[in-house]
Amino acid sequence: MAQIRFFALKEAQNRQPVKIDYPEKKTSDYFGAYVFNRRTMQEYLSNDAFDGVMECIEKGTKIDRKLAEQVAVGMKAWALDMGATYYTHWFSPLTDGTAEKHDSFIQFTENGGVIEAFSGKLLAQQEPDASSFPSGGIRNTFEARGYTAWDPSSPAFVLDRTLCIPTIFVSYTGEALDHKTPLLKALAAVDKAATDVCEYFDKNVTKVWSALGVEQEYFLVDESLFYARPDLIACDRTLVGHQSAKDQQLDDQYFSSIPERVSSFMREIEIEGYKLGIPIKTRHNEVAPNQYEIAPIFEECNLAVDHNMLLMDLMKKIARHHGFRVIFHEKPFQGVNGSGKHNNWSLITNTGVNLLSPGAKPKTNMQFLSFLVCTLNAVYKHQDLLRASIVSAGNVHRLGANEAPPLIISAFVGQQIAEMLDELETRVTNKKMTPDEKTELKLDVGKIPEILLDNTDRNRTSPFAFVGNRFEFRAAGSSANPAAPMIVLNAAVAQELKEFKKEADKLIQKGIKKDEAIFQVIREFIIKSKKIRFEGNSYGDEWHKEARKRGLTNVTNVVEALDAYNSDASKNLFVSNNIFTEKELEARTEVRYENYAKKIQIESRTLAQIAMNQIVPTAIDYQTRLIENVKGLKEIFGEEFKNIAGGRLELIKQISEHTSVIKQKCHEMTEARKAANSFVTVRQRAHQYSLKVFPYFEEIRFHIDRLERIVDNEMWPLTKYSELFFTR
Ligand code: ADP
Ligand code: MG
Repeated sequence: MAQIRFFALKEAQNRQPVKIDYPEKKTSDYFGAYVFNRRTMQEYLSNDAFDGVMECIEKGTKIDRKLAEQVAVGMKAWALDMGATYYTHWFSPLTDGTAEKHDSFIQFTENGGVIEAFSGKLLAQQEPDASSFPSGGIRNTFEARGYTAWDPSSPAFVLDRTLCIPTIFVSYTGEALDHKTPLLKALAAVDKAATDVCEYFDKNVTKVWSALGVEQEYFLVDESLFYARPDLIACDRTLVGHQSAKDQQLDDQYFSSIPERVSSFMREIEIEGYKLGIPIKTRHNEVAPNQYEIAPIFEECNLAVDHNMLLMDLMKKIARHHGFRVIFHEKPFQGVNGSGKHNNWSLITNTGVNLLSPGAKPKTNMQFLSFLVCTLNAVYKHQDLLRASIVSAGNVHRLGANEAPPLIISAFVGQQIAEMLDELETRVTNKKMTPDEKTELKLDVGKIPEILLDNTDRNRTSPFAFVGNRFEFRAAGSSANPAAPMIVLNAAVAQELKEFKKEADKLIQKGIKKDEAIFQVIREFIIKSKKIRFEGNSYGDEWHKEARKRGLTNVTNVVEALDAYNSDASKNLFVSNNIFTEKELEARTEVRYENYAKKIQIESRTLAQIAMNQIVPTAIDYQTRLIENVKGLKEIFGEEFKNIAGGRLELIKQISEHTSVIKQKCHEMTEARKAANSFVTVRQRAHQYSLKVFPYFEEIRFHIDRLERIVDNEMWPLTKYSELFFTR
């Protein structure tokens, strides 16, 4: 057997679960122990400093130098007590991961000793070299500096004895080079717009926060088997591999008992996650073999995003303690389910009301309906942007593949709410309502909580589904930073809420009573957004036809889908709400185009290497053996050998055919890459990669997977699907 595969299998089979004991304490006793949170801040900061930070967090105002100095003193004392020796600004550049540059606390004293030093300046702002991060052409080569600036709304934490300070990351000229900067702006926009609309219903509402609960799906693969797959190493997905005889067809994985090695891994993640204040709540087996899910309790969106990024990072590191590699790719294995990152989203007021949860009274339900229709309208108007926010080289393999929503964006609200919306549409008119009509309407609206109680409707096929008290954006991919879809969604909803308020105010100014005015605008929004509502099976072909009839868009090419960021609709939305400048939008899209092109380039190179250096030589070796065998038969049986060696002759021919096609196609693919690289703009190159290079993957894979079925198992160089799955 090919050596590397042989040793990998042996190692994987011998691996034992690592014993992880829970701490002696209750979870609540050590939850957040490594976080500079409210409790620790109170302990380490003066009252003034504490109040100052709290005010900045609540109001989103800037922290001045004096306050930063005070906080730095307390934060340093705390970090040293936690055993930290280094500090770092921790941020999310426009890559898939996070970035950190560590500096130690030490500083020389006058008499030659060292002390631990830290200052408000170091806390508040740093100037890392921005030149090696994706910037989409924003960064001038002569000015490579970037700034990171402290985000007090996401608490600092100690990880690996390093004080990590969440920050934004912007260029020297002020343009955002990260995910957090625009996210904070989008969250501020939705806060303002939602608070303004809440004024109609409850004057006590002074702040609305966006809540996000992230369900993270992932695969675990034994580390040794992983190393026997150059495609997993370079691309986080398999580019070849014949289907395993058994995979998920018996539906015996979902929620099934968790293997011991895996539960040890999960336990360690939970312990470390809890220390860092990540409220991990759910863990279970997913549909595909070796696929799992982890989900924390929802939190304020910015914090939930940071926690998701931190959790992914922890998972990558901790997996290796257990001889695993964690795979976040959206479709690591063909033929079994891929991984998503469901974004559960809602809006919650400072008074504790979930605006997407119907209340007990008609008035709260009017509020609920207002926010519901604004969300539906946001999804309708910005379907292209929502799609653009979640497409990637990885996620397109999953979307529309009979396990995840298609690239047509639609919203599901459940039968009862759909009926309610339909009824409101016919009942409310622009004419003045009679008192009877009004009473009846309010009674009906008041019934929503009742109907929701037995609304167990769960449409798993919808990309954007209402699930009783929140929307779930299911199209998002498992590997991506959830900030991108959250920026679009919160910005789009903010815009619609503004529009809603404007329309209602107009009617009120005309002398129409407030409630009636609101109902009229709700109706108008119901009508405007009707086309985005789809209650049926989004996986079916019928829906594709129906969606086309409705004029909904369906863009399956990643590069073309990304173009939406540069559309007029996008510019109107983002520029008018101060979330992106036009330049930032263009730059950011450029980064996405480039990321796509590079990923396809890496996959293409890796595939060609596997094909030419591993598969073709192995197939030829096996063929040589067959030829030797046939020669022997001929020696013994003379001309009669043909009757005996028929099957082998056929195999010899098949191997020649497959290897010739593989060689030919790899050659053509390399030429296609060269041609794609010669295009001038990043967008053109990415588009060429999608149209001219990408299609070779399936073609080449087909022949390799055929060879896997023919060639002697002992000789096959790559760990097979059947071996990668069912790791215990
Ligand atoms: P399911 O798999 O049934 O969708 P999970 O329990 O796996 O549900 O995950 C649901 C996620 O939604 C959790 O992170 C949960 O905290 C979150 N969630 C619940 N209520 C809200 C809400 N009002 N706003 C945002 N997220 C929420
Ligand atoms: Mg869910």
